[in-house]
Amino acid sequence: MALPPLMSDEHIYSVLTRHRFLSGQLYVNDKRFFALNQINYHWLRSQTPFCAYMQEVIQRFYPDKETQFNLRLHHTPFAPWLLSLPSEAKSLALTSSGLRKNLEESPFAVNRQWRFCPQCVLEERSAAGFSYWHASHHLPGASRCSIHKTALHTHSHLRYLNFTLPHQWLSTASPMKQSQWQCDWQTFIYRLNTLFQGRPNLAQELVQEVRELLQIGNDVKRSDKPHFDKQFAQMKQDLGIDCLQGLFTSFASHRKQQTHILWVTLSPFGQTKGLRHPLYWLAILFWLRHKIPLLSDGNLHAHG
Ligand SMILES: [Zn+2]
Repeated sequence: MALPPLMSDEHIYSVLTRHRFLSGQLYVNDKRFFALNQINYHWLRSQTPFCAYMQEVIQRFYPDKETQFNLRLHHTPFAPWLLSLPSEAKSLALTSSGLRKNLEESPFAVNRQWRFCPQCVLEERSAAGFSYWHASHHLPGASRCSIHKTALHTHSHLRYLNFTLPHQWLSTASPMKQSQWQCDWQTFIYRLNTLFQGRPNLAQELVQEVRELLQIGNDVKRSDKPHFDKQFAQMKQDLGIDCLQGLFTSFASHRKQQTHILWVTLSPFGQTKGLRHPLYWLAILFWLRHKIPLLSDGNLHAHG
């Protein structure tokens, strides 16, 4: 059975939830639901567009490769991952090879719960009769709705989706808090998402631009480490500890070893095998955003 048509910016797991409602499979148990739909049983996480399970759902319901890519780009928080893809990788040729069930999540302090905008819920329910989960609300660090500028709401029980829709949480969820750096982050992360959705190749162009700005070539040697250290000291000073602690667990005050974000991201040393989470790249781009015309505030307003 096909899934219902996706709404604008609807998360893939949101349409799977609506499918369960519409197909009368809400009252079979979870394991039975997955079996009926020929997908492996799993918990529905909001921010794992490369998770092998989500991949399976996408492949099961949308067999065409190009559709799969566009679906991931517009209906999961995938866009920032374009920064992490090896430059030679063809975006369309993404397959499940080497995909892990869950990519490294523990180093990140960003909230990973499911969240929604109450304004969006009201408008969707009056227009369509139901509310749905937005893909863009689950971009790393998103805490405000890009349309209404209102706080997204969430609940500690929303670590996994449990086949509910946002309106079911209206009375119990609470607004996400936002500090100063997060306020700036909202403009940045939504803008980046829109830019990458319009032009996926832009991500790797930005990666090259960062290398040029930091005078870090593609053939880094171990002897370049002092240059990295100097740049990283500047990065930490500019971003501030609130921001770094809000993004990475290794910057928490009790932790002795802070991740050297520039060294692990821009050098071939200390790299994990396979894909690296885009949060490292996002932190670097956020730091340099005023030096990159495409990301600078003037441009944001001009396009936004
Ligand atoms: Zn909204």
